Amino acid sequence: MVTENNCPEPTLAAGDTVYGFKVLRVEQIAEIRITAYEMEHEKTGAKVLHLHCGDKENLFSIGFRTPPSDSTGVPHILEHSVLAGSEKYPVKDAFNELHKGTLQTFINAFTYPDKTIYPVASQVRTDFFNLARVYSDLVLRPRLLEETFYQEGRHLEFTIPGDITSDLSVSGIVFNEMKGAYSSPDSLMFKAIQENIFPDNAYAHDSGGNPEVIPLLTYEQFKAFHRTFYSPSNSRIFLYGDITTTDHLQFLAEQLSGFERSEVESSVASQKARETPAHIRGTYPLAKEDTTAGKTTVNCAWMLAENTAVETALFQQITCALLVGSAAGPLRKALIDSHLGEDLSPVTGLEADFKQMVFAVGLRGTDPEKALEIEALILKTLKEICKTGFDRELIEGTIHQVEFHGKEIVRTSFPYGIVLMGAAYQTWLYDGDPLVGLNFPLAIRQVREKWAENPAIFQEIVQEWFLDNGHRVLSIFEPSYTYLEEKEAAFRKEMAQLKASLSQQELEKIRDEVAVLRRFQTEPDPPEAAAAIPRLGLGDLPRDIDTIPTEKTLLHSLPLLKHDLFTNGIGYLDIVFDIEDIPEDLQIYLPLLGKLSVNMGAAGMDYEAMSKRIALITGGVSCHLATGLTADGSRNWQKMIFQVKALYRNVEEAVKILADIFTAGDLDDRQRMFDLIAERKNGMHASVVPSGHIFAKRAAAAALSLPAYRDEQWNGRTQLRFMTGIAEQGKGGNNDLREKLARLRSLIFSKARLTLNMTADPKGLELLTSATTALLERLPDQGMLGVPAVFPLVGPHNLGIAIPAEVSYAAKAFKAPGFADPLASTLLVASKLLSDGYLYKHIRVQGGAYGGMCQYDASSGLFAFLSYRDPHIVETLQVYNNAPASLTDGKPTPDELEKAIIGTIGALDKPMDPSTRGYVALIRHFAGLDDAIRARLRQEILDMKEGRLRDDSSRFLAAAAASAVVAVCGKEERLRAANEDLLKTGQDLQIEPLI
Ligand SMILES: [Zn+2]
Repeated sequence: MVTENNCPEPTLAAGDTVYGFKVLRVEQIAEIRITAYEMEHEKTGAKVLHLHCGDKENLFSIGFRTPPSDSTGVPHILEHSVLAGSEKYPVKDAFNELHKGTLQTFINAFTYPDKTIYPVASQVRTDFFNLARVYSDLVLRPRLLEETFYQEGRHLEFTIPGDITSDLSVSGIVFNEMKGAYSSPDSLMFKAIQENIFPDNAYAHDSGGNPEVIPLLTYEQFKAFHRTFYSPSNSRIFLYGDITTTDHLQFLAEQLSGFERSEVESSVASQKARETPAHIRGTYPLAKEDTTAGKTTVNCAWMLAENTAVETALFQQITCALLVGSAAGPLRKALIDSHLGEDLSPVTGLEADFKQMVFAVGLRGTDPEKALEIEALILKTLKEICKTGFDRELIEGTIHQVEFHGKEIVRTSFPYGIVLMGAAYQTWLYDGDPLVGLNFPLAIRQVREKWAENPAIFQEIVQEWFLDNGHRVLSIFEPSYTYLEEKEAAFRKEMAQLKASLSQQELEKIRDEVAVLRRFQTEPDPPEAAAAIPRLGLGDLPRDIDTIPTEKTLLHSLPLLKHDLFTNGIGYLDIVFDIEDIPEDLQIYLPLLGKLSVNMGAAGMDYEAMSKRIALITGGVSCHLATGLTADGSRNWQKMIFQVKALYRNVEEAVKILADIFTAGDLDDRQRMFDLIAERKNGMHASVVPSGHIFAKRAAAAALSLPAYRDEQWNGRTQLRFMTGIAEQGKGGNNDLREKLARLRSLIFSKARLTLNMTADPKGLELLTSATTALLERLPDQGMLGVPAVFPLVGPHNLGIAIPAEVSYAAKAFKAPGFADPLASTLLVASKLLSDGYLYKHIRVQGGAYGGMCQYDASSGLFAFLSYRDPHIVETLQVYNNAPASLTDGKPTPDELEKAIIGTIGALDKPMDPSTRGYVALIRHFAGLDDAIRARLRQEILDMKEGRLRDDSSRFLAAAAASAVVAVCGKEERLRAANEDLLKTGQDLQIEPLI
């Protein structure tokens, strides 16, 4: 992580030429501690940007402009396919090889509407260059085999394999991935807005691919797209981290040797502004048992400034945040308060990954006939804002948020370098200055100056870019019961017509081609091909565990954990309440209590005032629930965790906000309460299709352990049903919700339940300690009930959950031991082997699903198999049944095992930002997962031998099968059809509606 305060000394100067690269410019950005080098490869014209800094997590990313001219998804299919081997690395799935056998901290590929990017990151220098070497070779010199195109993109096949009298169908990984995307209301809605805001340029097409158009793509077109756009002359290479620029250039010179300069026309035309607004209507799939009333979403969207007009773009970003970014945003508030819909549309916000930015806002949970009223309300509110201006505190709070997040060291699931890369590409891709968007702190100082000069600057943006801007779209998205049926009927008809037009020989050819593809998929790579991929040996792996500085002490006799870490002037506090004795009938209300606590008013302030106060003083206040088993599996723990973070100067005030929430939170604003309930219900509902595998896993696992039961109750289908019920009751006005919440609050917000956790440097820890002492003085002490809630374990049964989606999600879960168990190391390695090997091969490569994997979750006592956007159900469950044998029948080879060990260690060593380190130490404390257990676990992983893996796996998996539970999310018809086969084996699913 970044720990240094200074920029590295420049090692090159503008005008220098090194390894064939001309240095165009060198610039230091002290605020983010980087020295930036902008360079160009003289021979090919490849553009290179290096952000040199103290971070040892180095990032390499090669990107190309790839604007599509149709919706066949060619950029997306290519993104998948280039990773399937090059001449030098002729393995069928080089991406998977790198993913499983390196210490990569990040490896991925992304298709955007106008660019394709391939980033890799590692904290180990040799590993980093190994990854970057293979990645750049794959991208620049891929094999692009015909089989790869069919597998990743699309191919024709018979519904009964090998039987040319059966129906014709289409499969392919991208094809199935996009069928999933085209089943999700949120993504359908956004696609329609994009196409209609940009009817005249590349964004009118779907770079990801429309399943109706994907089958039209030919192998020739696919190869031609690579020839045209994947030329170094069309590339932008982004580098970040502590490796020197010269070392990078030496490496890049090798990769680019042999390429010539080519002229590539890849620029994206600006969309010409329209004078008059457009209206569009669309539909999305709805489950049969749902009612259509109140299920429409209405949005207004505007085309805003070009990203390269940096100053205007920044002011627009802030203006959009003012309008809808917080509960106090006047446009958000006007929409919510109107009750023309249930909550804000999920596509609300600014989208900056286009040449011209787009802002959308609207309401979900409404009806089509209210669309014009909603549009009128939006315009009326904007007019009022122009007249009266924005609230000063709201502006201050919004600017503080930008300032805070510019200062905070974050390493979420993405490396920090990825954040900077995204900011650089926003201008660089359109031939603008790549550095101009990186200096957040400077930009914010300039915003403050401009605002002081012209206090009306934000309302002027609203006038010019919203009210006077005719380039607007009104979008109405309605539910449809027949959406999926119509799509499927049209597809079947098309397939029938196609089949009728084909001769016997042509049909036989299709059959034979599928057979060739299947053979290609099942044949292992020649050992010398896999050996060509450079990788570390076990001896290169760090043997020692990473430890987190933790001082365990007491504050007013309450347990306090302190983590002395460099946080760049930000203090982090976790206030943790024990909830394991909360009575069972109240448990289901806990997530709601959390959401309401941090989103309602407090201490006499209404929610709007509280929201402004939180934005002005903190970097965020949040609440979540956490649960798990202890490392020895003997006990479980359950906590409600409030988190606040603030600049040192605000720490005292920030902690006071939490004290106000605990002691004087408002539960009387019934309207606000039900708005938040609707928001939660709709948010959960919309997440089912995009994360159906997690949803299915929760349903399957609920009968297996208490943490899994709670997870389902708090976040799964049970919670969604509960929220739906409460939202319904709310309309009738008759319920005891307030009383239940008040009871919970008085039970929970009590000193006796507390554990405190602080992360900052010594100065910050002192500030946090004194602020928390003041909080404790205000907190009552009711003690605890002391009796853990009775765990009402439901009898396990296999479940089919009917959801409106074109693809399925199958989960199978069983009980597994905790981290301290001798089996834990085996299960970590086995889950890596199965995920990257057997499951990947059978569910993704051969089955055509977007994903197939397994997870060992020691903290919940679970082992699970999962599939994602899967065209199959029965076949996938059969793959799960056969999975254990793949580990025990003479496999894995020593080589496969070594890769799995490296990959497992890599996953354990993922870098964390300071606040995450503090939080992880807290969770380990609850779980009793001490450094001795972690060190032993690591040692056992490093020492894993094939014999042990085989013996442990067969012992565990055979015993575990007894507790296995299956849950599948999918279309009801598919579930019923699957049951016809599953009944024969007694594994049939009990089919239930989602709600
Ligand atoms: Zn994809």
